[in-house]
Amino acid sequence: MAPSMPGRNKLIYLLDAPAPPVDKNLFGLSREQLRALIVDLGQPVYRVDQLLTAMFRQSVDSLDAVSVLPRALREEIVNLGWGIAIPKILEGFRSVDGTERYLIAGEDGQTVETVWMPGGDGGEKGDDTADDFDGANTKRATICVSSQVGCAVNCRFCLTAKLGLQRNLKAGEIAGQVIAVLGRHKVELGRDRINLVFMGMGEPFLNYDEFMAAVRLLVEETGIAESRMTVSTSGIVPGILRFAQESVRPKLAISLNASNDRVREEIMPVTRKWKIEDVMHAAAQLKLRPRERVTFEYVLLGGINDSLQQADELVRLVRSASFPSKVNLIAWNSGPGIEYVAPESSRVEAFQKRLIQNGVPAFLRRPRGRDIYAACGQLKRTTREI
Ligand code: SAH
Ligand code: SF4
Repeated sequence: MAPSMPGRNKLIYLLDAPAPPVDKNLFGLSREQLRALIVDLGQPVYRVDQLLTAMFRQSVDSLDAVSVLPRALREEIVNLGWGIAIPKILEGFRSVDGTERYLIAGEDGQTVETVWMPGGDGGEKGDDTADDFDGANTKRATICVSSQVGCAVNCRFCLTAKLGLQRNLKAGEIAGQVIAVLGRHKVELGRDRINLVFMGMGEPFLNYDEFMAAVRLLVEETGIAESRMTVSTSGIVPGILRFAQESVRPKLAISLNASNDRVREEIMPVTRKWKIEDVMHAAAQLKLRPRERVTFEYVLLGGINDSLQQADELVRLVRSASFPSKVNLIAWNSGPGIEYVAPESSRVEAFQKRLIQNGVPAFLRRPRGRDIYAACGQLKRTTREI
């Protein structure tokens, strides 16, 4: 571990090298896939649990470290080309507010960003699941997870968009971010209160199968309940429709960001493909759990979508939805090369007040880790230039 760097650069450590590549990675396989492999090898099914426990609860470095498996079996698996490579944290940055941003290596050494927000995400406090259980020995935190390297959606206000889409992440690379961060913070699963938000780099619903496979792995193997997970989409209608059919699924957040299609299309060109009305119809297909609400995220851009008329229009839109919802307001976080301006704080307050006065639950998401480019929309593998 390297010592902290002085001055403004808040690099906290240079950690591991990426995991040595393996031909075929056991980490990221579903329980069923592992079972098929183990049964093929003529082994008892309890080996599947032994493998999954080693990977998800003990974050072993290699198959060799799974000492509960007989040596001969480990060798046999290796000879078939299988190994274990769990994503590793290469670098970390710590904000003055305690937020940490990590660069985590995927299978090809490309890095993605993952954020640890201790004490939970202020914006989620409207959630019924975000209780105040905060005992002296209990950690509470939210981990923000990436689903793609870069993003193809091209929202005008988002730094990740500037990368374009580099590639999709595999299920293991998505779930692995969580395992790596849980390991760094020595989280005790079952005791500490961990929320997951799939709101990092990328559009989860444009990498649907791998994203959902990661969700299932995390729910089954870490025991973090799906009701403690939230996925955010820019409004990919076919993805929302598939999501509505899932029996195990996180809560849904929709990046609305405008109160009508005209403004939305300007800042989110994806609106040309799916109008707000289409997104609303798709979201209405979800069978919500008791007390569950859909979140509408609304990034406030100074002079673009932060007027009281737009707040009124948003009220009408949200109230016309056939499902219970709430609004999470996010003051725009700046990024290099993006021309928008942050909204004035008086306008943010007035906007929120207007929603609440009209019966729309509205929360202001506290910006986390802005100084280390960890806040919403700032993820772009920013390293030395901080
Ligand atoms: N791609 C998904 C999830 C990742 S973005 C989506 O767009 O929903 C997570 C949230 O950050 C979205 O609500 C998005 O609108 C918001 N966001 C993007 N850029 C931002 C910025 N510069 N400042 C504040 N919020 C931003
Ligand atoms: Fe992609 Fe979300 Fe950024 Fe839009 S806001 S470019 S969907 S990551």
